[in-house]
Amino acid sequence: MTRKPYFITTPIYYVNDVPHIGHAYTTVAADVYSRFLRARGDAAVLLVGTDEHGAKIAEAAAKAGKKPKVYVDELAQVFRTTWEKLNIQYDRFIRTTDTDHEATVRTFLQKIYDSGFITKGIYEGLYCVGHEKFMSAEELVDGKCPEHNRAPQPYKEENYFFLLSKFRKQLIEQIENEEIEIRPLERKNEILGKIHQGLQDISISRASVPWGIPMPFDPTHTIYVWIDALINYYTYGKLKGTWPADLHLVGKDILWFHAVIWPALLMAAGEAPPKKIFAHGFFTIGGSKMSKTLGNVITPQQLIDKFGVDAARYLLLSAFPFGADGDFDWARLIEKYNADLANGIGNLHARLTTLAVSHVGIVLGWDDELSEIRRFRGRYEAALEQLDFYLAIQVIQELISKGDKLMNEKRPWAVEGEAQKKELHGLLQILAAVAYFMHPFMPETSVKIWGSLGIAEINEFKKMGKAVLRVHKIENLFPRIQ
Ligand SMILES: [Zn+2]
Repeated sequence: MTRKPYFITTPIYYVNDVPHIGHAYTTVAADVYSRFLRARGDAAVLLVGTDEHGAKIAEAAAKAGKKPKVYVDELAQVFRTTWEKLNIQYDRFIRTTDTDHEATVRTFLQKIYDSGFITKGIYEGLYCVGHEKFMSAEELVDGKCPEHNRAPQPYKEENYFFLLSKFRKQLIEQIENEEIEIRPLERKNEILGKIHQGLQDISISRASVPWGIPMPFDPTHTIYVWIDALINYYTYGKLKGTWPADLHLVGKDILWFHAVIWPALLMAAGEAPPKKIFAHGFFTIGGSKMSKTLGNVITPQQLIDKFGVDAARYLLLSAFPFGADGDFDWARLIEKYNADLANGIGNLHARLTTLAVSHVGIVLGWDDELSEIRRFRGRYEAALEQLDFYLAIQVIQELISKGDKLMNEKRPWAVEGEAQKKELHGLLQILAAVAYFMHPFMPETSVKIWGSLGIAEINEFKKMGKAVLRVHKIENLFPRIQ
């Protein structure tokens, strides 16, 4: 039996949002992780997509004078283009309006209904259309949703309910014993604490929202948009034989849906829950929350325009540890770009290739550097296995500093001929290793570095110690930015 590929997902984003760095953060992280696994020789698949049903979309489409489907077709394309620009190597861009997804959602809900985990009841509450969720009294400020600055609508309707409360024991067990792994650990503890307080059954249908997937056993209701959206992971996984998901990457605001409601739905449908859910933190911009109202939203396109694609990817994941909250601002980004990329790898690469270009047939050396690079590789891989992108980047930066230090000690510019060649091969080995480690983060830069050394592809890393280089000069990898 062949092992199923490692299945990674990002949240499917609500099409009505403009793609911003929050979306890009999760998606780039997922891409880096899947590239890392593939480079190691593991099969990995990455699913991305858009969430397209619900009252908020119907409202926005009506405002734009468009049919909902026409409206979402345009918006989904914006996300797809953004991920292509950011060089995201996804296996499918799923949309909740895709016919295979709609069919899977109907079968899935029917299964839960047949198993007796769905009942009818009256829902009464306050619904924020902006959030597409019910708000509790504690969440409101002066009777308004603080995030959307509008009063939620009082809502009373006959709904179908999912009997979430029946899964309390199973959820606690599986989360505690890590059949469902929740990371970081403090998030796991938060979730367990909340489940221990008790689980309420949840409304999963709407009689008043026509823009959605009809309930299979009662087409007068549509399926609540969140339930419809969560099933996207299963739609792909089931079709491709990759279920269960190995890793759901999510922002911490939607962890409850992914770590509690989603596994319970799967259990109710007789399917395996996801293996791991990792919730990352949020960006503030110069100390304030990123918001349309404040006008401080940073888009992936702005990052790409300023720094280029690879540097944009790098800057997102090197800003602060994955899982924590952190701050982002233009001045700091420019500083980081110049320090790590222009002066760091860019400078080392330029100095080394300038010296090496006159030599024919330098063989990448292992020698003394070999064991040292192996140690770096061990730390780098251990960091990425924990999704610690921040630490993995620090290890890369240490290796670059190591290269700079060795260069100053060995002074290859002060000698000539064979003596120079001998000093260079160890240094070039470090450069090639840096390019290898950077590859998941900055794929184009790695290829450029290898190209300038005459190494054709990533697999040649494994041949190190044997590869014969044909070094040539290329343009500066990262010109300084003011
Ligand atoms: Zn709201």
